Amino acid sequence: YRAKKARTGFEVYDDAQDRDAWDRLAMVEALRLALDRGQLSLAFQPIVDARTRRPRSVEALVRWIDPERGFVPPDVFLPLAEHAGLMPLVTRNVLDLAFDEARELRQLGHEIAVSVNLSASDLIDGRLEHEIAQRLIVRDLPASAVKIEITESLLVHGGRATEFFLAVRELGMELLVDDFGTGYSSLAYLHDLPVSTLKIDRAFTNRLTTDPRTAIIVASTIDMAHRLGLNVVAEGVETEDELARLQTENCDLIQGYLISRPLPAADLHTWLSTAAEEQRPPETSAQPGR
Ligand code: C2E
Ligand code: MG
Ligand code: MG
Ligand code: MG
Repeated sequence: YRAKKARTGFEVYDDAQDRDAWDRLAMVEALRLALDRGQLSLAFQPIVDARTRRPRSVEALVRWIDPERGFVPPDVFLPLAEHAGLMPLVTRNVLDLAFDEARELRQLGHEIAVSVNLSASDLIDGRLEHEIAQRLIVRDLPASAVKIEITESLLVHGGRATEFFLAVRELGMELLVDDFGTGYSSLAYLHDLPVSTLKIDRAFTNRLTTDPRTAIIVASTIDMAHRLGLNVVAEGVETEDELARLQTENCDLIQGYLISRPLPAADLHTWLSTAAEEQRPPETSAQPGR
């Protein structure tokens, strides 16, 4: 059987597929173990005012460092977790850690929110909104201490997205549309759903200063968002040129390596204290519209 397959030229392909399948299975098992042992952590990336660079919130990004594999990017292990039905566990872990950090930040005197990413399978069972509310109560946090990020495609294809959004909005929590511009969707949801902020995908930010057509798309997106009463975050800002351009286009908030990489909690606290020091002298009263 194998020899026959080899002659048709499919043998190598099949082996590679088997190995990939095996690797994926092994990775899922390793992830299961990491979840059991509480070995996932979060990194926090500051989101700052595009003009003053003052911190407004931080995005929680899940981190998994496996003893064998080292750092495994979320883009790699989250799809596997989703497929293996582990996403509810991952998300509960992430929510616990993110809400803990939201509380910690408050105790340290930083009035900034933590925003949490959710994925499609999180919205299926209809319990998530309840669990979010519960976590606020247990930690005695106001709803403004946490924000929710959901991608555009999830908004359109995730069946319960609307119900979930309305429930979370009812709590008083802000909702952000992540990776805006990559979902190939209609914009109809923008008037149906209680969204507060659009996050322009990194792919647009990166081409902003080199591709005139991208610049037009970004400028129009910001304009449209403002007319709809929404805020705009530009993701993946890496250069001063990009920032300058975004300021010209009246982008409200920015996030990216230019400001800070995602940081472990302890480093975030240092970063925030330093940012607060730097902001102290020019504590002017004239902050237009913010
Ligand atoms: P995202 O929500 O769009 O997060 C932004 C990603 O861009 C992060 O990658 C961040 O590290 C990266 N980034 C930020 N600034 C820059 C920059 O200036 N340049 C470049 N090149 N990259 C930048 P990360 O942490 O690898 O996360 C990738 C994606 O995985 C996230 O995209 C999000 O969709 C998903 N994700 C991360 N954490 C979670 C989580 O806890 N739950 C869920 N459901 N998804 C998560
Ligand atoms: Mg995000
Ligand atoms: Mg994004
Ligand atoms: Mg992304």
